[in-house]
Amino acid sequence: MLIVQKYGGTSVGNPERIKNVATRVARCRAAGDQVVVVVSAMSGVTDSLIKLAKEIMPLPSEREMDVLLATGEQTTIALTAMALHALGLQAVSLTGAQAGILTDGVHTKAKIQNITPKRVHELLNAGHVVIVAGFQGETPDGHITTLGRGGSDLTAIALAAALKAGLCQIYTDVDGVYTADPRIVPGARKLPEISYDEMLELASLGAKVMQSRSVEFAKKFGVVFEVRSSLNDNPGTIVKEETKSMEDIVIRGVSLDKNQAKVTLVAVPDKPGVAARIFKALGDAAINVDMIVQNVSHGSGKPATDLSFTVDKPDLLKAQKVIAGLKKEIGFGEVIAAEKIGKLSIVGVGMKSHSGVAGKMFETLAKEGVNIDMISTSEIKISVVIDLAKGEAAMKAIHAAFLGA
Ligand code: ASP
Ligand code: MG
Repeated sequence: MLIVQKYGGTSVGNPERIKNVATRVARCRAAGDQVVVVVSAMSGVTDSLIKLAKEIMPLPSEREMDVLLATGEQTTIALTAMALHALGLQAVSLTGAQAGILTDGVHTKAKIQNITPKRVHELLNAGHVVIVAGFQGETPDGHITTLGRGGSDLTAIALAAALKAGLCQIYTDVDGVYTADPRIVPGARKLPEISYDEMLELASLGAKVMQSRSVEFAKKFGVVFEVRSSLNDNPGTIVKEETKSMEDIVIRGVSLDKNQAKVTLVAVPDKPGVAARIFKALGDAAINVDMIVQNVSHGSGKPATDLSFTVDKPDLLKAQKVIAGLKKEIGFGEVIAAEKIGKLSIVGVGMKSHSGVAGKMFETLAKEGVNIDMISTSEIKISVVIDLAKGEAAMKAIHAAFLGA
């Protein structure tokens, strides 16, 4: 069988860890499997390269950033190949370009256009372990590119698709995907499986296990993969297209996003085009708006409504500036910003076929004395904005109600 294994920064964080990776790969070779290894930069390396560049100038050229950042992964592939040689295995390292990964020319967040893994196949057939640098590729005219932070995941998933690998494993420093963050909810359990959509929702809700783009890519190309730890032999979590039986479980996971802030505009004139004007301006400023709630109008002569929305906390100041710039033109009242909020969400494909989920969630919050500030739902998710101070207690209570203590 052909296996693609990706090892993240902590899994290759020092020479001992790299030797550990080599030992794991050697075991697969001994079992007769062909192995393609995708590696990240050693942990901390990408961050320190970015810092280094900023010490030269605040806004370095993005092309040169890619040349710089690609060295992080290039270091790891060579060291990993050496570690395999030390065990007596045949192994060859390849940069993204050498592995045939072609991208567009959007430096620092390039998209993979296609992969021609001819060289990878040749080396595998000659009995080598092939080690590919994650997170990088090249444009058709030969410029080095990178795929955005966390992009080694994407390299692995895309290579698994292009090579039609029998197995794709994403090795990290956690055992898999959990029902909740175990640091907050002691009773959280590792999930044996999760659907692409649930994984995407949980990732976008702040449960960062993998780069979202790579999960989207896996969904699009039907790449089944496993998230597991490089530090033990426990089975991980299988991520795949949802199956009927996945719906038997109502809720797959609970997450708490502490990184949002809320803005409320009081007494916004209730007439066509106002919301469009506000959110177009926020969009133009590249501010990502998440939840939006608009109240019923009040006032008969000049109907007005309160409008609230949430943004990422680091964007709050920028959002307040954009809104202040619209005040004269639109003519709303006070603007209230709240930073001490948490977005608590439950996710599960089982919501499609079970009723009463929202009621149970709200009842649980009521029992905890938690006030709900905003609500939003999708087919497989219910999110509420609550007081940040009560976030963790609320998360525990919700986990206990749906998934056990
Ligand atoms: N080294 C890159 C980063 O830190 C890519 C990766 O680790 O996946 O973002
Ligand atoms: Mg990473």
